[in-house]
Amino acid sequence: MRYISTRGQAPALSFEEVVLTGMASDGGLYVPETIPTLSTADLEAMAGLSYAEIAFRVMKPFVGGEIDDDTFRQLVEDAYATFSHEAVVPLNQLASNHFLLELFHGPTLAFKDVALQLLGRILDHFLAKRGERAVIMGATSGDTGSAAIEGCRHCDNLDIFILHPHNRVSEVQRRQMTSVLADNVFNIAIEGDFDDAQAMVKASFADQAFLNGTRLVAVNSINWARIMAQVVYYVASAVALGAPHREVSFSVPSANFGNVFAGYVAYRMGLPVKQFVVATNANDILHRTLADNDFSKQALKATLAPSMDIVVSSNFERLLFEAYDRNGDAVRDLLERFQQEPAVLAEAPLATLREKFVSHSVDDDTILEVIREAHGRTKELLDPHTATGYRAAERMRADASTPMITLATAHPAKFADAVLQAGFEGVPLPAHMAGLLEREERYTVLPAELEAVQAFVAEQRR
Ligand SMILES: *Cc1c(COP(=O)(O)O)cnc(C)c1O
Repeated sequence: MRYISTRGQAPALSFEEVVLTGMASDGGLYVPETIPTLSTADLEAMAGLSYAEIAFRVMKPFVGGEIDDDTFRQLVEDAYATFSHEAVVPLNQLASNHFLLELFHGPTLAFKDVALQLLGRILDHFLAKRGERAVIMGATSGDTGSAAIEGCRHCDNLDIFILHPHNRVSEVQRRQMTSVLADNVFNIAIEGDFDDAQAMVKASFADQAFLNGTRLVAVNSINWARIMAQVVYYVASAVALGAPHREVSFSVPSANFGNVFAGYVAYRMGLPVKQFVVATNANDILHRTLADNDFSKQALKATLAPSMDIVVSSNFERLLFEAYDRNGDAVRDLLERFQQEPAVLAEAPLATLREKFVSHSVDDDTILEVIREAHGRTKELLDPHTATGYRAAERMRADASTPMITLATAHPAKFADAVLQAGFEGVPLPAHMAGLLEREERYTVLPAELEAVQAFVAEQRR
């Protein structure tokens, strides 16, 4: 399997290269040269299989033989053995034909574990094979950092450095990162804000001389392996509800669009999907684009669903590439214009998108109302991100006869503030996280200066 850039000018790469690379050299994102297909018989044969076995079968064509089957199967099994639910991502029926797909049973209680538990293992495998070591750097305001650390803590060939803004992440989120005391995990608290941390990570990727030739790897959602791992739960949940013989719809709490784009890949592979409902919080660029063709940046708003607080939705570029019939020049023009000023999509691609995608934006007051209302009706406590998806599903579903699957992207205990504001008592942390607030922490406070951060990384890496 070869991978090509959405902007048409970077060299095509193998799966191994694409996982180790991150962003393409032309500023685009890598996508498979051809999207593999799952036949009706392939989907029928998945009924009743374990999540790990379905995962192996769905992802195998993307790996394209670059990891031998036995090894890949083992990596997949190990990744999903870290989940605390036997079904890995169980379906929970809330109402007539409305299901929650619980993606939060991994080590850090959010859906990012599904991809990052596997990505760490795939990276470690390729690095061992090459006899190389690599450094991961990332900036986080919460969710991604802890999932990346949990995904890499057992990886012999990786050192991971996660920057967070000092005193500006919640105590639970900080401790989820800083209480991991593994030798290859380095938490850096930056005396600045999230944008300072992000800027230093970006500058380090742009000029890697400070690492003297050691590879720097990105584990944010532009990494293709994260998308690939997320395709699996769309297939597994649809098969559980009757695919390939019954259509389903999905409602997805969205920000960088990596999650819902994975659903679109599953659809293109042959999964019968009627609708994708794109749910946003008040940071609604995706909703404005799909509903009003207003593809423009707006100031960041801090909301009750903080893991969806974004200005630009990086993975939307991958969907635009498909909507523009894989014309890299057109995508590059559009995105260069968008960086400078408000942009609009051409008519034909927008019409193509609207055949499968609808959208809905949910503000903070409504998030609280949905948490209360859903609990009243179902006794289920939704986290604030999932609440946006739940409301969007109810408002936008095309019909009541197609099963609707709302993706539950986080456990409510992780976002206790919103749950308290909605009028409920705190939610206890699950057993494996009990005692988090008493655990020993380790992190280094550094000034928001690029030289200081790079010197620390260069010196501490093993
Ligand atoms: C990251 C995240 C999202 C947004 O997912 P994207 O792939 O960026 O669209 C939604 N909910 C939670 C809890 C998250 O951590």
